[in-house]
Amino acid sequence: MKQLGFQIEHCRSNCPKSARQWNALLETLTTNLSNLNINEALETKFNPVLHHHLPKICLAGCPNGCSHPDIKDFSISGYVTPLITEVPCSGCDACVRYCLEKAITLDPMKIIIDNARCLSCGNCTSVCPTGTLARGESGWNLRIGGRVGRHPRFATFAGQVLTDKEVVAWIYETILDYLNNGQPQERLTHYIERKNSVLESRTSCSLVNPLT
Ligand code: SF4
Ligand code: SF4
Ligand code: SF4
Repeated sequence: MKQLGFQIEHCRSNCPKSARQWNALLETLTTNLSNLNINEALETKFNPVLHHHLPKICLAGCPNGCSHPDIKDFSISGYVTPLITEVPCSGCDACVRYCLEKAITLDPMKIIIDNARCLSCGNCTSVCPTGTLARGESGWNLRIGGRVGRHPRFATFAGQVLTDKEVVAWIYETILDYLNNGQPQERLTHYIERKNSVLESRTSCSLVNPLT
């Protein structure tokens, strides 16, 4: 069987907590990355190509990250921001109780959301009985550079995008860049780290998207 040269994991399909469905993204991503012939390109860097050499991608439908996306090269998790509509609030308190971040206060028949605390998980929008809270903007949080092993690290924030197409382009171009410019024996995670540290030394910024 042909080796794909990459690995994609995901969380539970059709989970009711999902802020964003990932099924279509999974399919498009797999098709596009298969066309890159990653395994053949990796064979020019490593002999043999082992599991830890493969780029790892992980999808999660919401910020809960049950599939552990933040220890993978590419972390993609869905978000949906709560939208306060014109519909009067009944003061039922459900959204306050369901918000794990304690980001909502009731004052007394209107709600206030602390955006600094809100993780855009969408829990509050699914329990609001009146429609005062609705689903607002929905998209994907992107993080990069996570790994386990001798020197584990969490993926760092690389941006937010609205469409599946943007996620696919980001991953495709990053892997292509690595295949073309990574050194022999250099894993993707170390290429990202090296590129990031070069950018950090140029900008003195500790939270740099290594790919911009
Ligand atoms: S990450 Fe979110 S959507 Fe996915 S299984 Fe966990 S709770 Fe459900
Ligand atoms: S989206 Fe999630 S974190 Fe944000 S206010 Fe609603 S329940 Fe809280
Ligand atoms: S769940 Fe809806 S109706 Fe109830 S307090 Fe929150 S915003 Fe108001």
